Amino acid sequence: MGRTGGKGLSLVRRLYTSRTLGLVLGLLCVSVAMYPLDPPAWVWALMLFNGLVWPHLAYQWARRSKVPYHAEHRNLLIDAFLGGLWVAAMQFNPLPSATTISMMAMNNVAIGGLRFLLAGSAAQLLGVGVGLVVFAPAFIPATTPAQMYACLPLLMLYPLALGWICFRQAYTLGVQKRELLALSRTDSLTGLLNHGAWKDQLDIEFLRCKGQQKGAAIALIDIDHFKAINDTYGHVAGDIVLRQLSKMLKQNLRMADVAGRYGGDEFCVILPDLPLFNAAQVMEALRERFSFLVYEQNPALKVSLSIGLAALDPAHGDATRWLNDADQALYEAKATGRNRVICCNDDKPRREVLGSV
Ligand code: GH3
Ligand code: MG
Repeated sequence: MGRTGGKGLSLVRRLYTSRTLGLVLGLLCVSVAMYPLDPPAWVWALMLFNGLVWPHLAYQWARRSKVPYHAEHRNLLIDAFLGGLWVAAMQFNPLPSATTISMMAMNNVAIGGLRFLLAGSAAQLLGVGVGLVVFAPAFIPATTPAQMYACLPLLMLYPLALGWICFRQAYTLGVQKRELLALSRTDSLTGLLNHGAWKDQLDIEFLRCKGQQKGAAIALIDIDHFKAINDTYGHVAGDIVLRQLSKMLKQNLRMADVAGRYGGDEFCVILPDLPLFNAAQVMEALRERFSFLVYEQNPALKVSLSIGLAALDPAHGDATRWLNDADQALYEAKATGRNRVICCNDDKPRREVLGSV
């Protein structure tokens, strides 16, 4: 309901601008076409009402309604009906009639596609029918120069205004789409890439690095006994630790490195174009710095990291196998006492290459 309201209200605002402009220019076009026919006072009154009062009335009516989108649908049908009525009243004077019909068709198709176009056309036909009953049926075959000039502002300005409105809407939608895409790829707690987005990146880097000989590594980083931190200090403290780790990753990795939150207390990093030995040094430095950082901020908290590293191997058929190697290395880091970096090497069984505890 809230969503329908939001969508409807922005439509109501857009239509207010286009309707106000279209109908005031339409008033000029229709009144110059009607003038030689010497219509009665009530017709002039209806014309003025349609051109000057109706746009504001329609706006208030739609704005106050429960479902503004539906209210605007009804207003557009009223617009189309009145347009048809004026076409019959102008005795089908060619240029003002064609201008009225085509501007309304353009408006309807821009707002609601084929469905609105068809519904609007039906309402216009009804308006023509009622017009034929109310006004004597007749046909004026030629448009005078004055009537032609009176149509020009509508013909020139209304498409420009509608085009601008449509462009603004498409631009806003584009911006929102990019924002949503970024949100859907981001882990909300840490601001790092989320699991799915990181995996997409892993596939890309796997293919890129495989074609080169520079080497590459991935690291899986898991906080040791994180559950105990939650249990002892609460989940808010746990969240702070998770954010601290992600902040440290952002600050200490290279621009090319791709860090993500794999899930829970597990993080993942792609280190492209880096031999395994250097990647292990980087991870070892991070491991030490993190324990120190947390201790500095809260000496009661003792937090350590277990890190599993795997180099890209030409034998890896896909990125999942590469990831699996890092997972195995992390498992080994946990099994052999935690708080350490373990590398998965070609010469299995894996061995620890850099310090611990
Ligand atoms: P290990 O040393 O073997 O890694 O043990 P652990 O306690 O770190 O690992 P375990 O998988 O048992 O616990 C992970 C905990 O992380 C469990 C879960 O409640 C917690 N967790 C997962 N996501 C979040 C989160 O977003 N915030 C907080 N505060 N805790 C989380
Ligand atoms: Mg853990």
